[in-house]
Amino acid sequence: MTKTNSPPRAATKQPTGFPEGFLPPLGTAADPPPRPTTPPPPGSGADSESPVHTPPNTGSADSETPTTGSGADESITTRTYRNRRRAAVLVFLVLAVIVLVLGQVMRDRKTAGPALPPAAAVTKASVRHTINKVSPVAVGGFAVAGGHGPVLGSAGTLRRFKVAVEERIGRALGGDFADEVERVLGDPRSWTAGRDLRLQRVPASARAEFTVYLASAGTSEKMCAGGGLRTEAFTSCRLPGRVIINSARWAAAVPGYDAPLAVYRAYAINHEVGHQLGHGHEACGGRGEPAPVMMQQTYGLKGCVANAWPYLRGKRFAGNPID
Ligand SMILES: [Zn+2]
Repeated sequence: MTKTNSPPRAATKQPTGFPEGFLPPLGTAADPPPRPTTPPPPGSGADSESPVHTPPNTGSADSETPTTGSGADESITTRTYRNRRRAAVLVFLVLAVIVLVLGQVMRDRKTAGPALPPAAAVTKASVRHTINKVSPVAVGGFAVAGGHGPVLGSAGTLRRFKVAVEERIGRALGGDFADEVERVLGDPRSWTAGRDLRLQRVPASARAEFTVYLASAGTSEKMCAGGGLRTEAFTSCRLPGRVIINSARWAAAVPGYDAPLAVYRAYAINHEVGHQLGHGHEACGGRGEPAPVMMQQTYGLKGCVANAWPYLRGKRFAGNPID
């Protein structure tokens, strides 16, 4: 915009060419309205009270120009004109505010419109994925899964646990271990079905009652032996606060188990966590019966059928205690 555009534009904004409501307030020297030719009253000087001098150079001031004492010399035409100008300025200001507000609303809609939620959802999912899968904390040769898992179960004392995978096992076997542990313990047939306890996986920095380890055969044997238990590098074990899953069993179960690997894995988790929750070993109830989860199923099913769950059809399923 250059100043040379102004004069012609101002010229087109003469009151005659515009409806009252759109009269711009930007008065210029070209704006003066038709003036009454009433002469100054007697006794008044040729000063600012004279109507001829009333219109200011800037339109913005015209409504504020005092006209004190000029009631007698102001004609009806002048008052009408001023009222119209005031109304025009007001209308213009109101319209400008409306345009600005509408413009802002449209801009807000564009930026906060439907494009945002998907982007936010993707970011959230990515963060959660990063915390759980990519940011484990190394503790003594183990990688402890990061982030908090969901609260498993609907009622009862909340017991927290961690999940740690021996680093030498690598991601091939241990990458989804935490997920599988949570899936098993969150199953409606698992220990939380009694509604007397809930479980939640927590990160390395949090306090927890116990840790579920996935350890190589050699490491698990050493860990279990440290607590006085002999596993011959074959079985899993549990020490106070430590549920130790032998990765060789996790990878291949046991010969003759006659059930999918997922069933054996669920059994191993529920059995060892069952010890942590205070349950001892139980016996097979008879040929063809489901094996109690606290039965040592790794050493053979004794005529029972493989079973991974402490609750069957919503009821606690247990065998006679042994030992
Ligand atoms: Zn046991």
